Amino acid sequence: MGRLTGKTALVTGSSRGMGRAAALRLAADGALVAVHYTSNEEAAAEVVELIEKDGGRAFTVRAELGVPGDVHELFLGLEEGLRERTGGTDLNILVNNAGVMGGVKPEETTPEKFDRVFAVNARAPFFLIQRALKNMPDGGRIINISSGLTRFANPDEIAYAMSKGAVEQLALHFAKYLGPRGITVNSVAPGITRNDNPVFQIPEAVEQMSGLSAFGRVGEPEDVADVVAFLASDDARWITGSFVDATGGTLLG
Ligand code: NDP
Repeated sequence: MGRLTGKTALVTGSSRGMGRAAALRLAADGALVAVHYTSNEEAAAEVVELIEKDGGRAFTVRAELGVPGDVHELFLGLEEGLRERTGGTDLNILVNNAGVMGGVKPEETTPEKFDRVFAVNARAPFFLIQRALKNMPDGGRIINISSGLTRFANPDEIAYAMSKGAVEQLALHFAKYLGPRGITVNSVAPGITRNDNPVFQIPEAVEQMSGLSAFGRVGEPEDVADVVAFLASDDARWITGSFVDATGGTLLG
């Protein structure tokens, strides 16, 4: 029996990257996992397949975040999937992972680009938490993926970093609000972590990025997923409202 057996989890943006790794890890720990995606159905289905191959339980949920009706659509699919498999709609663990980078210089950041980044990265997590609380029993877990860029300057990502700064506020205020229910709320801040971005195929770029970490390498999705799994477990019951630096020492300077 895994330490999350009997629990249910939603990991937003878990068709790829860190979300995928978190979904695999939570499922390996015994949770029934909703693998959320927006366009990459094949990748999400593959995550479910991998989980099931290892004896775990998972299903896919599609919803584009950052558009009107996003949370409603996601919860329609989520509740249907949970009801089919558990007979109820309890959600014990919410991982707000889906996010979009900015990658635009301050002078090129249009109001439209700014709003988009905030809609996906900050607005959606707030309303997902608000909605998830209807389904979350006492003792639940909320984990929001922030970024080391809230403490490490990169002008090309100013709007993105601002949106992640907003995400970190979720842990501070919701943690206080939800303490009486035994629900913990924490932020995890990854540093540069391997994903599908073609930059990770360029050895010189990877070498340069590796130099930012105290460990001399870029992060792997599993490096962050293991932190998420810890915060989701009972072992982390006394941690709430915290900022967990999962940058591999990048913030040490
Ligand atoms: P990826 O870019 O590898 O994957 C993004 C995931 O989010 C995919 O599952 C994608 O779904 C989903 N997604 C993207 N936009 C939307 C949307 N509008 N609505 C719904 N789902 C969406 O992610 P990473 O692993 O790189 O990043 C995960 C989180 O970590 C993000 O919040 C990111 O900001 C943060 N982060 C990443 C760092 C890095 O170096 N990679 C560093 C610090 C923080 P689909 O497959 O369907 O497109």
